[in-house]
Amino acid sequence: MSSWLPDQILVKPLHEQLQQKKALGLYRQRRINSGPAATEIVIDGKTVINFCSNNYLGLANHPVVNEAFKKGVDQYGTGSGSAHLINGHSAAHHALEQELAEFLGYPRCLLFSTGYMANLGVAQALVSRGDVVIEDRLNHASLLDAGLLSGARFSRYQHANASDAHRLLNKYPEHEKLLMTDGVFSMDGDLAPLPALAKNCQQTKSWLMVDDAHGVGVLGEQGRGSIEHFQLGATDVPVLMGTLGKAFGTSGAFVVGDEDFIEYLIQQARTYIYTTATPAAVAEATRASLKLVQAEDWRRQNLHSNIQYFKQAMQQADLELMPSDTAIQPVMIGDSQEAVLMSQQLFDQGLHVSAIRPPTVPEGTARLRVTLSSEHTEDQLNRLIDVLSTIKS
Ligand SMILES: *Cc1c(COP(=O)(O)O)cnc(C)c1O
Repeated sequence: MSSWLPDQILVKPLHEQLQQKKALGLYRQRRINSGPAATEIVIDGKTVINFCSNNYLGLANHPVVNEAFKKGVDQYGTGSGSAHLINGHSAAHHALEQELAEFLGYPRCLLFSTGYMANLGVAQALVSRGDVVIEDRLNHASLLDAGLLSGARFSRYQHANASDAHRLLNKYPEHEKLLMTDGVFSMDGDLAPLPALAKNCQQTKSWLMVDDAHGVGVLGEQGRGSIEHFQLGATDVPVLMGTLGKAFGTSGAFVVGDEDFIEYLIQQARTYIYTTATPAAVAEATRASLKLVQAEDWRRQNLHSNIQYFKQAMQQADLELMPSDTAIQPVMIGDSQEAVLMSQQLFDQGLHVSAIRPPTVPEGTARLRVTLSSEHTEDQLNRLIDVLSTIKS
């Protein structure tokens, strides 16, 4: 049998495509991190202040959470051994589901292995060919993929524009409709107009699903996220998804909803059914983290004072930020290569801020995406602003 190389049979050889990405400033590379998540990390052997983590509350390496993880391993071992519907569903998973449902004020909760899988699973369970999915243009990639893969007719509305969403919802009076939106937009940091979207969905008898990956734990006095911020509940937002790898500092995701909806997901969501349950020890770690999220309001308060301080100091330095009141504070650059260059200059000066480029964001809107944590000090924030001032001028 003769051997062949993929490059010889492809119309566009991979090597050429990679070179093209490099030329356009779109090439992506991993940096090697050799320690725990923190505001100061060692990456590619260099100590840098970290401004691109989602560890908003400093729980990803908290001693109490770490201890719960270790104890979980002692009790349950490392692997779960199988899918939830076989025998991978542990007492730890079950307790975490009950605790999350209670925290968020919903009847039921279902854990997924990742947020990406939760989004795919919900869309695929609720809609299919002949139905309609309606999404914000700037939704997270996993929600867009979820809509596309569901097989339903896919329609997008202008960013954070509830009347444009309403126009689309009204366009399909006879169809089953699912509207999906980020609660906090992951690359922009602004909020979805949830009260208006909830009203529109109720009026048009459509499902509303909110992906609150960057809201849960962080927004609202008690950390219940976008819904608490807008004083909404389970009747306004019937499907709420959150991730555990961000504010909670662990890994995985959950969906909360009513009894029938969660039971339906257990029957239908393929990304729930056909995958191994996450380790029970991760659920134990998350239970510990949830207790801290609930008990330690000061973490949210620190984060919010850091956000206020950063916005104000940036303004004083004449550096423009995108309109956001959340921990996601992007600096718009526009050109991809320039964003990459600035990210590299920041890195050289000991600051880690990632350049976000297309296709993650629309063409021509490359940006430096700064994320803040409750653990950043004013000195660290000042350092970022000083270096940004020198490289931007
Ligand atoms: C991070 C993120 C996800 C994916 O969650 P994972 O658990 O990391 O797969 C989904 N939606 C949004 C808005 C996110 O920011």
